[in-house]
Amino acid sequence: MSSERLLADFDAGKPAALARVVSIVENHRDGFEPILASLHGRTGRARRIGLTGPPGAGKSTITALLVKRFRDAGLRVGVIAVDPTSPFTGGALLGDRVRMENVALDPGVFIRSMATRGSLGGLAAATREVADVLDAFGFDRLLIETVGVGQSELDVARTADSTLLVLVPESGDSIQTLKAGVMEIADVFVVNKADRPGADRLRNDVELMLGLRKGVSFGNVPTHHGVDLKRMNPARAAREAAGEQNPSEWTPPVLSAVAVKQEGIDTILAALDRHFAYLERSGTLRTRRRERMRERVRDVVAQKVSDRLWKDQRTVAWLEEQLPAVEDGRVTPFAVADRLLRERAELVRGDEKT
Ligand code: GDP
Repeated sequence: MSSERLLADFDAGKPAALARVVSIVENHRDGFEPILASLHGRTGRARRIGLTGPPGAGKSTITALLVKRFRDAGLRVGVIAVDPTSPFTGGALLGDRVRMENVALDPGVFIRSMATRGSLGGLAAATREVADVLDAFGFDRLLIETVGVGQSELDVARTADSTLLVLVPESGDSIQTLKAGVMEIADVFVVNKADRPGADRLRNDVELMLGLRKGVSFGNVPTHHGVDLKRMNPARAAREAAGEQNPSEWTPPVLSAVAVKQEGIDTILAALDRHFAYLERSGTLRTRRRERMRERVRDVVAQKVSDRLWKDQRTVAWLEEQLPAVEDGRVTPFAVADRLLRERAELVRGDEKT
């Protein structure tokens, strides 16, 4: 199929064309760049919501519930499930997704699992590109679910407008050891499995940690949903007292949920809506999206420079010739790199094709 025909089918809203375009873009197959370029002008409409947290926290359960609620509201939803640890294309994850089957037949829902792409330029970049495709196709909400709380998950989470961090009481002891960045990136905290012991304590710990992080004078837009005032800790009390009058600040609410019983989902949805309103009102949405574009261009530049140089066999051979001198200590790796960039400038510019 020609790419014009493919894009025409995509524009006509055909699911098969969408699946095909997603595959081409995800795997950087021939023609992915012009496709992304032609879709670029149509992106920016979908709200991108990231869900992250330790395995087993209930992310998939919450994702499925959110999909259901969005569908009930007449919104179309794209789900990108990212598993950086899996060398397979989301095999284990798909097994886990059986519960999503009831929504999988709905044309208003598109679900894609992605695993590590090795050398192809990073999972976060791929996630962003696939999200752009879904955005351009017309999905209103994109749920980007990542498994785990490591660096790649953080990078993936940064591609979202709002990030939900799902924690569970079992992870309570290890909250101090959670990567600092994970706490920083969360816009909404959800303590799931609130039917288990320790949920209140965990919520309190997270509140305290946020209080320490932000300082008590930090203005906020507190959530009153699902908040048990009697259990409020001093940091939270101070923040809530200082709150309401500073609409340009956001303090992440710490919500509780029992996803298996569908409890807490309304509160999560309300918090996401409030967060999005805050993003728009404060100008943060524009800054975050601009930051995404900046990173995007930087990624593409890094990838292109690397490809242009190392796909050129003469450059590879030239480097081999320099190595003995580097080994002997006569030349430094930095000097070789500088020389390479100088002497192969025309390659980097893309003037010369091999
Ligand atoms: P994920 O790995 O973060 O996507 O977690 P899942 O959504 O797959 O949930 C892991 C397990 O926890 C599943 O067996 C769920 O049924 C269960 N689970 C999810 N939410 C709750 C909850 O609120 N309470 C309890 N007790 N179990 C839950």
